Amino acid sequence: MRFKELIPKQKTKFLRIKCLGCGNEQHVFSHASTVVKCMVCEKVLLEPTGGKAKLINAKVLKVYG
Ligand SMILES: [Zn+2]
Repeated sequence: MRFKELIPKQKTKFLRIKCLGCGNEQHVFSHASTVVKCMVCEKVLLEPTGGKAKLINAKVLKVYG
């Protein structure tokens, strides 16, 4: 017997987010497994949670896919 259906497939998406600190826009993975920082001001934008990452100092502008 196989249990390959036991692991739920996560719907991973790309997000276009805007840093609330400096206004920089960048693309991130919605299920990022590491902290994502703003490329310009180095504020933490996204924190991993084990599932869908949590936005900290950022706003979602667009969701891809
Ligand atoms: Zn920034």
